[in-house]
Amino acid sequence: MRPVAFVTGGTRGIGLGIAHQLASNGYDLILNGVREEIEVESVLKILRSMSVEVCYAKGNIALEADRREIVKKVKSRFGKLNVLVNNAGVAPKVRADILEVTPEDFDELMDINLRGTFFLTQSLAQWMLGQKQENPSDSFSIIHITSVSASMASINRAAYCISKAGLSMFTKLMAVRMADKNIPVYEVRPGVIATDMTEKVKSAYQERIQNGLTLEKRMGLPDDVGKVVAALAKGDLPYATGQVITVDGGLTV
Ligand code: NAD
Repeated sequence: MRPVAFVTGGTRGIGLGIAHQLASNGYDLILNGVREEIEVESVLKILRSMSVEVCYAKGNIALEADRREIVKKVKSRFGKLNVLVNNAGVAPKVRADILEVTPEDFDELMDINLRGTFFLTQSLAQWMLGQKQENPSDSFSIIHITSVSASMASINRAAYCISKAGLSMFTKLMAVRMADKNIPVYEVRPGVIATDMTEKVKSAYQERIQNGLTLEKRMGLPDDVGKVVAALAKGDLPYATGQVITVDGGLTV
């Protein structure tokens, strides 16, 4: 039986890069996103052509009712979960000085990037601990996609930075909790990755990347993050958990 991975926000951008790499490594997939299933059908079809099973769990992770449906689907579809990748996240719609962030904008980011991820993980982690107890030789892991913004102060993206810094601490807390059954928890911190999220800032970064010292002098690609996640997902790094791997080509080193 193939291992199973669940990726939030897994039908485009970095999440799709992760899904693609996990499929290449033989994982059956459950992908979550907010779009209708019909809108992601072509993506699912491509992944299914990689000889794995792929299903879609539509839902907004910020909403409790949606989270309940997502968890129900994750538990019922394959009856097990080896890898949980918390990737879904949003950037601020408008950049605003830290002194001008509105409560609405702050809450929206926190609800998706931090609160939604926290409670979704809570619902699945206990189940994963039970599976590990029953199948001690199987591999399990949890991976959080944060951002270099988790430790860099961008004053016009305050809520985003705070949400990712919170997710970073959540990684450490979960690592300690899941160590009870030897399930590692990792944080992957992308730099600037070419997706819809970075479309508007692409040209500004392009110049910085060309002039600076980054690996291959290019923006990151979703598959770069996907390959790192797929390597960590195996859960076989000896005696290491709660650690951060930054995937930014060296931009913030
Ligand atoms: P993207 O906008 O291309 O994709 C985001 C994904 O999250 C989409 O699939 C979307 O449907 C999903 N999503 C958004 N809100 C959701 C919600 N409420 N419930 C469920 N799914 C939801 O963005 P991306 O660039 O692929 O970013 C993916 C993750 O990587 C995010 O957490 C982002 O913060 C992080 N990140 C991105 C970059 C970058 O340069 N692109 C850098 C650092 C970190």
